[in-house]
Amino acid sequence: MVAVVSDTPSLGDRICSVAAQTIERLAQCHLPLSTSVTIRVATVVDPAQPHCLGIFDCQSGEITLLHPDALEASVTDTSIFKGLPIPTLFDSLIAHELTHAAVDQVTEGRQMTTAEHEYMAYAQQLEALSDADQVYFLEANRSRSTLSRGVINDTMLAMAPGVFASAVWLDFSSPGNRCATFRQILDGDLRFKTERP
Ligand SMILES: [Zn+2]
Repeated sequence: MVAVVSDTPSLGDRICSVAAQTIERLAQCHLPLSTSVTIRVATVVDPAQPHCLGIFDCQSGEITLLHPDALEASVTDTSIFKGLPIPTLFDSLIAHELTHAAVDQVTEGRQMTTAEHEYMAYAQQLEALSDADQVYFLEANRSRSTLSRGVINDTMLAMAPGVFASAVWLDFSSPGNRCATFRQILDGDLRFKTERP
């Protein structure tokens, strides 16, 4: 289900193992992968966006991830991921980008807002963290437990991604939500719209 392109065999093995776990979790959450996905590791993901840590290209169906050695320098003081161990962050990025790939395959190109795509990607990314790292992420982003669905929109994603991702995690991890929420988003019954100022 995944083809990995990496110069380092041990890194390739690690990606395969994390990808296999992610694909199983996605399949249990209404997001089965039906087509193989290629994951590449690169020292630059997008020259136009130096702080881009990973990307899924829906045209080619390929994922490019920043090599762990280059990740540390890209996680700046303002990054929402600052303070997470680099191997942990790298693994979680695999989950994030594979979720985009699965959403793309399952929805077959049906238009979704960026916020809807990113809800599922961040939910799976934060799900991949340990309980302690999940708590750390919320604290590092100074997120309050009172964050509501109202802040899950494209504008918040662009302006304050840490608030967006924290709100997603608090919503997704609430009792009764999780995969049921994914189902609602995939069916178009729950929309996270583009907020126009
Ligand atoms: Zn994303």
